[in-house]
Amino acid sequence: MSTMTLRNVCKSFGSVEVIRDVSLEVDDGEFVILVGPSGCGKSTLLRMIAGLEDVTSGDLAIDNRRITNVPPKDRDIAMVFQNYALYPHMTVAQNMGYSLKLAGWSRADIDKTVGETAESLGLGPLLGRFPKELSGGQRQRVATGRAIVRNPKVFLFDEPLSNLDAKLRVQMRSEIRDLQKRLGVTSIYVTHDQVEAMTMADRIVVLHDGLIEQVGAPLDLYDRPANLFVATFIGSPS
Ligand code: ADP
Ligand code: MG
Repeated sequence: MSTMTLRNVCKSFGSVEVIRDVSLEVDDGEFVILVGPSGCGKSTLLRMIAGLEDVTSGDLAIDNRRITNVPPKDRDIAMVFQNYALYPHMTVAQNMGYSLKLAGWSRADIDKTVGETAESLGLGPLLGRFPKELSGGQRQRVATGRAIVRNPKVFLFDEPLSNLDAKLRVQMRSEIRDLQKRLGVTSIYVTHDQVEAMTMADRIVVLHDGLIEQVGAPLDLYDRPANLFVATFIGSPS
């Protein structure tokens, strides 16, 4: 169980400021959705939290431990990407166990953890398959499984459902939420889809040009949008 803190986080690429003074506290076990139009800085913010991108200024902390300059692998953070590239030459079991192998786990411990995680995601019967033998939804589940095997303190999702068709997307929304609740992992989930945000989030953070416009529960944003941008963005069909 963990809290994730962002304190006055800024990011510039050259002279272009893409994240402007973002502060946010994500509670233990909370599922926060970061929403905003394409190019507003969502992926950049997640990548900084994961350590894949340096922060220009500001601080990040998990449970009050400053992680701003901690290498990605030591942050206890797992991330699921939009293009959840699975290793094509590895089976589902090997894909899910790879990070454990790199971390020096024994074969028996890897098999046990991968087996249990696969069971919890309904992937038990698929452990011997290769990615090309899986459906889009199954691949998404493997990518999620690969991220959770190391029992991270914080879970990051960057538009994980955007490559799936509409029907599967709706189904996977509740799968992800059910899993997250079961594990109780503090999570930050990025989407540009307002419906996804409204239906999945404990709290929504609306980002616009690198600035937070509003933070609140879905109904708060819907009933009391802070400004015209939030009202228009939340109210418009995706
Ligand atoms: P989003 O995920 O919300 O669509 P991004 O975080 O990908 O937005 O991008 C935010 C802004 O930062 C965009 O203007 C984008 O062009 C710019 N940007 C992202 N990565 C880089 C980079 N490595 N170098 C320069 N500009 C970048
Ligand atoms: Mg993005």
